[in-house]
Amino acid sequence: MAFYDQDVGTLIDEQKLQTRVRELGEEITRDYQGKDLTLVCVLKGSAFFAMDLARYIDLPLTVEFLGVSSYQGGTESTGEVRITTDVSKPMAGKHLLVIEDIIDTGLTMSFLLENLRARHPASLKVCSLLEKPARARTQVQIDYKGFVIEDVFVVGYGLDYAERYRNLPFIGLMKGR
Ligand code: 5GP
Repeated sequence: MAFYDQDVGTLIDEQKLQTRVRELGEEITRDYQGKDLTLVCVLKGSAFFAMDLARYIDLPLTVEFLGVSSYQGGTESTGEVRITTDVSKPMAGKHLLVIEDIIDTGLTMSFLLENLRARHPASLKVCSLLEKPARARTQVQIDYKGFVIEDVFVVGYGLDYAERYRNLPFIGLMKGR
């Protein structure tokens, strides 16, 4: 019995997840042929997804990490976002693909896109494993999307509850929430 069995049920199992991540990797491989691709991995949540995705992209690429902290009012994002760790290289002239775990209200991604756009990349696109459209407060174009989910709180595959459960190999639902 795994440590999480009592608290977490499965929403998207490991096989379904990996199949979709592979498909996204193949799509990105086709679209970025001949381009200087930089994956901008948004910490901490998207790290697990980004590393799997990178392995499915058959292109030379660079990985950068961007740490953000969104101020939460309860479980709601307030839209106030702070960059806690910045990328290590200039982003000007690069083809940037921002990798996110989940787009919920869209406020974090809107902030990030505005911030990255100001650095004059050659192009700027978004890849998000999950989208929760029911809670969208601002329109964000998701160029590569893994799954659309209902308005439920998910954990696993990078997503946490109080910093726990990121290491589950699937997307789960907290029981009793
Ligand atoms: P947004 O600014 O789009 O509302 O929020 C995005 C961030 O909120 C995500 O990167 C993630 O950290 C957090 N978040 C939103 N929904 C969930 C969820 O269902 N589970 C977890 N663990 N985090 C979530």
